[in-house]
Amino acid sequence: MTAKPYGPISGSAILKGIAGHNAIVMAANVRIATVAEGIFRAAKDTDSVVFMELARSESDLKGGYTGMTPADFSARMRKAAQEVQFGTWALHADHITIKKGDAAEIEGTKQLIDAQVDAGYTSFAIDASHIFNFEGKNVREELAENIRVTAELARHIRSRMKGEEFGLEVEVGEIGRKDKEGLILTKPAEAVEFIQALNENGVFPDVLAIANGSTHGHTYDANGNVVAQLSIDIPQTRAIARALRDNHLDVGIAQHGITGTPRDLINLHFPKGDIIKGNVGTFWQDVVFDILKVYEPALYRNIQEWTLEKYRPLNPGKKDNQIFDGNCKMAIREFFKDIYAVDEETNRAIRARAYAESLVFFRAFGAYKTASLIRKSTG
Ligand SMILES: [Zn+2]
Repeated sequence: MTAKPYGPISGSAILKGIAGHNAIVMAANVRIATVAEGIFRAAKDTDSVVFMELARSESDLKGGYTGMTPADFSARMRKAAQEVQFGTWALHADHITIKKGDAAEIEGTKQLIDAQVDAGYTSFAIDASHIFNFEGKNVREELAENIRVTAELARHIRSRMKGEEFGLEVEVGEIGRKDKEGLILTKPAEAVEFIQALNENGVFPDVLAIANGSTHGHTYDANGNVVAQLSIDIPQTRAIARALRDNHLDVGIAQHGITGTPRDLINLHFPKGDIIKGNVGTFWQDVVFDILKVYEPALYRNIQEWTLEKYRPLNPGKKDNQIFDGNCKMAIREFFKDIYAVDEETNRAIRARAYAESLVFFRAFGAYKTASLIRKSTG
């Protein structure tokens, strides 16, 4: 990709540049591209570096559930960045998920990566955390397949990037996985073993996603009402960061599933510097739907009806509010044309709301002034 003004820069330059500065880079999953301009404008006004990202489920060669292919997503993010004239950001492939690790799945994954590279992505998250050998006799055996698949795909990215620097995120411990006792958390020894093994294979990630008590999407009470997420285990996160440092492993932590965590808690209590990347996804979808509710009530009602009709039969016993909440993301593709065809008044409200919310996130993340920090370090 030729570098156009305000195009994305290497994710590695950002993550390496921010390490040690008590700041977290916000990574926004922009499922509906309209919010991007508001996020970029807030980033510019507060001098905050930012990642724009979509996971494989959200954006793949067929468009994923957002209806955007990697090329579509890249084009929309670049357009928004140019509109705002802000160029200190990375275009990131969140959750390139591999569930089995067989040859066919690896091959399909390489095709997705190729499309992301061709679309000018500057950062990649390989997630083979689902492949876990519960019969393994030690940590290395439990993680062997995750290590093998992650290393193979990382090498593929490197060969496709042809010497260009890129960000690399890897994952150990499936986020949100539960057993009888509740969420299963990553142990410090697992994180250390995983990164050591990757380093031995010539793969040096910038950032490691761990399971530390968050879940993707909203958190619910017993009645299916959305409640604040207070489950992120901060001592465990610090312990993992410390273990990595003690073993001289140069890698930060990526916090996934931040939606629902009160921002005053993030502001005062998150271990910034241990956590260097924070993913915020569902929140931005809520921003759009909240605006549509008031500005486009007919469209919003159609989205509600479509979602409930489709997902009620699949969720017996669940209340409508939780069924809608958990599945309305699937309506983004179905109503793609309508969502992007709303009038300027609606779009203005979406952008303004995204702007205001981004200010608060950047502040809570300690990200103000990080953009010029990165620009200085990258020359
Ligand atoms: Zn995630």
